[in-house]
Amino acid sequence: MRPLVATIDLAALRHNYEHAKRCAPGRQAFAVVKANAYGHGVREAVTALYSVADGFAVASLEEAAVVRAMHGSARVLLLEGCFEASEYQLAASMRLDVAVQGEAQAAALLEAELAEPLNVWLKLDSGMHRLGFDARALRVWHARLQGAPQVAELSLMSHLACADERGHRLTEQQQEVFASLQDLPFAQRSLANSAAVLSLPATHLDWIRPGIMLYGATPFAELSAEALGLRPVMTFTGQLIALREVAVGESVGYGATWVAERPSLIGTVSCGYADGYPRHAPSGTPVVVRGQRVPLAGRVSMDMLAVDLTDLPQAQIGDSVELWGAQLPVDEVARAAGTIGYELLTKVTQRVPRRYC
Ligand SMILES: *Cc1c(COP(=O)(O)O)cnc(C)c1O
Repeated sequence: MRPLVATIDLAALRHNYEHAKRCAPGRQAFAVVKANAYGHGVREAVTALYSVADGFAVASLEEAAVVRAMHGSARVLLLEGCFEASEYQLAASMRLDVAVQGEAQAAALLEAELAEPLNVWLKLDSGMHRLGFDARALRVWHARLQGAPQVAELSLMSHLACADERGHRLTEQQQEVFASLQDLPFAQRSLANSAAVLSLPATHLDWIRPGIMLYGATPFAELSAEALGLRPVMTFTGQLIALREVAVGESVGYGATWVAERPSLIGTVSCGYADGYPRHAPSGTPVVVRGQRVPLAGRVSMDMLAVDLTDLPQAQIGDSVELWGAQLPVDEVARAAGTIGYELLTKVTQRVPRRYC
C-alpha cells in the first residue's frame, strides 16, 4: 500500500469544539462541517461531536443530508440557503435551518408549500458584500417573513470579513450595522466565525459558528493554533521511499530549480500535489523527519516530493515524513506556500486514506 495517510485525531476535534464553547460561555455553537469537515471526513466529525455539538453548519443540501442522516435531532444550518426553489421542500423534510441571503431566495420561500415550517436565518450583508440583504432591505423582509406559514423561528445572521485582523475598521463597522437592527424581534442572532469566537466576545450573541478552529488551525496570521489552545486534528504522513547522494551542481526535480551547493543527501517522499500537497510550496518549505524539520528541495511532483536530508544523515528509507500535523502546524506549511491552513486541509484529495484515532 502506498505509504501516505491523513490521521485524524477525533479527541482533538472534540477538545477544540469544547474550547470554542468555553470561549463563548452560555452560547450555542454550530460546528461548521462544510467541505467534508474541512477535509477531515464529515461522517466521523459528526460522530465525534454527536453528543456535544448544539448544531452543525454546511454549505449545501447535499452536505446537510449526510449530517441529518447521522444526527436526527441536531440543528443543521444551510449557510448559503437553498440554491433552487425545489430545495425548500427537501430542507423542510430534513428539518434544516436555512439562511435566506437574497430577494430571489426569500421570494421562493414565500411561494413554497412546505409540510413543516423552517427555521429561517435572514442574512445581513453588514459589509462583506458577498451574500445578504442590506439593513434596509432586511427590515422589509423581516416584516414579510415574520409570521409567514413557511417560517418557524426567524433569526438574524451575518458574516465578518476581517475578524482575523486585530482592530480592523470593517469589523467595527459590521458590528454597528448588525446592532442597528437591534430593535427587530429575532429568535436568535449569530455573527462569530472562529476568529471572532477567539477574539471578539461582543460578537458571540446566541450562536457561534466555529469552523477552522475545530480542526486545530489558526484563523490568524500572527497567532499560532498552539498559542490559542487548539490541538491539531489532521496529521498528514508520508514516507521516505528513496534516498540518493547528489553532487554539487546537480539538480533535483522538474525544471531543475534546486541545485546542490554542497554534496547533498536527497530523500524522495510519497506525497505530491495530486494528494493535495501544494505544488507552489517552494524549496525550503519544512517537513518533519525523525523529529527534525528538513526543507523541500525542488518542485513538488504529482505523486512525490523531494527533501534535503543533508543535515539528517541518519535518515533511512521507510522513515515516516510528517507533511503537517502534530509536529508541524499546517499553518506553517501554508505560510511557506503562500496560502492558509483552510486551503491545505480542504484540498487533501480522495486518494489519501483517512485513519481515525
Ligand atoms: C465557513 C463559515 C464559517 C466558519 O468560518 P471559520 O473561519 O472556518 O471559523 C462561519 N460562518 C459562515 C457563514 C461560513 O461560511
